[in-house]
Amino acid sequence: MLRSQSRKLGYEMLIGECLTFFRQKTRALLVLVLLHSFMIICSNHPFATPQTDESLVHSSLAKMRFEGNLSFNNMEFAARDFGNRYHLMPSAVLHPKSVSDILSVVRYVYDLGLNSELTVAARGHGHSLEGQAQVHQGVVISMESLRVPEMSFHTGKHPYVDVSAGVLWIDILHESLKQGLTPRSWTDYLHLTVGGTLSNAGISGQAFRHGPQINNVYQLQVVTGRGEVATCSEEQNADLFHAVLGGLGQFGIITQARIALEPAPKMVKWIRALYSDFSTFARDQEHLISTKKSLDYVEGFIIINRTGLLNNWRSSFNPKDPVQADQFTSDGKLLFCLEVAKYYNPRDSDNINQDVDTLLSELNYIRSTLFLSEVSYVDFLDRVHVSEVKLREKGLWEVPHPWLNLLVPRSRIHEFAREVFGSIVKDTSNGPVLIYPVNKARWKSGTSLVTPDEDVFYLIAFLSSAIASSTGKDGLEHILSQNKKILSFSQRPYLGIKQYLPHYSTEEEWEAHFGAHWEVFCRRKLSYDPLAILAPGQRIFRRGMVSALQRPEGRDIA
Ligand code: FAD
Repeated sequence: MLRSQSRKLGYEMLIGECLTFFRQKTRALLVLVLLHSFMIICSNHPFATPQTDESLVHSSLAKMRFEGNLSFNNMEFAARDFGNRYHLMPSAVLHPKSVSDILSVVRYVYDLGLNSELTVAARGHGHSLEGQAQVHQGVVISMESLRVPEMSFHTGKHPYVDVSAGVLWIDILHESLKQGLTPRSWTDYLHLTVGGTLSNAGISGQAFRHGPQINNVYQLQVVTGRGEVATCSEEQNADLFHAVLGGLGQFGIITQARIALEPAPKMVKWIRALYSDFSTFARDQEHLISTKKSLDYVEGFIIINRTGLLNNWRSSFNPKDPVQADQFTSDGKLLFCLEVAKYYNPRDSDNINQDVDTLLSELNYIRSTLFLSEVSYVDFLDRVHVSEVKLREKGLWEVPHPWLNLLVPRSRIHEFAREVFGSIVKDTSNGPVLIYPVNKARWKSGTSLVTPDEDVFYLIAFLSSAIASSTGKDGLEHILSQNKKILSFSQRPYLGIKQYLPHYSTEEEWEAHFGAHWEVFCRRKLSYDPLAILAPGQRIFRRGMVSALQRPEGRDIA
């Protein structure tokens, strides 16, 4: 504490002297900004917090009263995530029971001002890939313990549910179904929190029609980095609302969300079919997302160098024509699998069958490879959890996951496919490679999410699992080096490709990622988290660094 006070006095004297010296000079603020940045950069570790902050957490935060509790033990879980590659140990973990617990911590850290480098990270279900929900020697707020409000449903013409941001989507699904309702837009895996996916986007096969999850939220409650609680929506505090959606946790901690619902179907027709030609595959996918009478879910994946593929499917899908399907072999071929779904209620089954048959007749897949399945709506949405259970049993869930997600504009998708599937990725045995297009017109503009600048773009997700100790093709090093090659191709500026769930190390890279939106992103950071307290694991701003984004004239950006 004393060390930090004397350091503060030293800085203040230095700044005071500078001010006197430059009082008449027009560039005084520029010098101050540079000086301030210098002081921050001089800290040993780029994201380290000095010892003084750790003792601050122990001495001051420990004295505060919470409805939940602040823990200094059993924090290992907060230093892990699904990516399993980054492990930053916090100084304390808050398990909040109320919004005011969260508010107290953020306000306390905000009030420390520039004297401290203490930071705070909200942690959802910890399914980030590169430490985005972790914080080195700061405070992690474990959002899953926050259960206010209890889920509360509103029926009527525009039904919705109010939920705590730490709730898992799978729990919202189960509770909504009791009301005959369901959220419209999903992720492929539902054991993720509302706050975690809304901080990114939440993209799955429904996004071509409903937009991502950030499109399907009416209202949020947020604790900003200034330690203030605000309710925001399109009508109220709209700038904060847009900032937080896809905002990578940079502007506030989402504590509640109002999620749009629609009547829930009971069943799903789930269909897969193969293509050997990428152009035909992509043309059919784009046709499906553009027709009015369409499907409810459109995705797809790539298959490179796999054998016995259709036999694996048979455990959950039935071939439309078993005899022809038996004659098809996948050995070694580069194949593209269309995966689509149509929701229905049993009483409408006949009409739905006709609709689906009509749609399928318009497509050009390899006829012998049409596979169908009928499953409950819950089983369809929770499908990845089935794989999770199996992988956990084999000890293959908690392995490194060097994932890479890209958003590729339609005009570049063929070039991308040629280069990446043609010569960089040699097989898909380390995990699925998803590929599907979405309509930008259905995506809300003005949020913090950046997407390619075209009406249609593709999500391409390389979802690899690695064996940490292996030096072979399933090893972490091999997969990381393959990702690097994909990235180095994708980062050619003329391609206009954006990372989803982005990860960068330098400010220049972030600036390039946000492009024309960077100034708005920085202006919002200055407005809502000017000391850069929140979500340091995203590695966008350094604690206290945001003030350096002020223009030399002392005017805020934008
Ligand atoms: P965390 O990893 O805990 O947090 C993510 C970021 O959000 C961190 O920066 C954290 O500080 C911040 N944050 C967390 N909670 C809050 C809050 N309440 N307020 C503000 N900031 C907060 N994504 C898709 O879009 N589509 C998919 O289909 C998809 N499938 C996936 C499948 C699996 C198996 C996994 C592991 C991930 C998948 N994801 C998918 C990625 C997923 O959406 C993100 O990793 C998401 O961040 C995970 O949510 P989480 O609750 O675990 O968040």
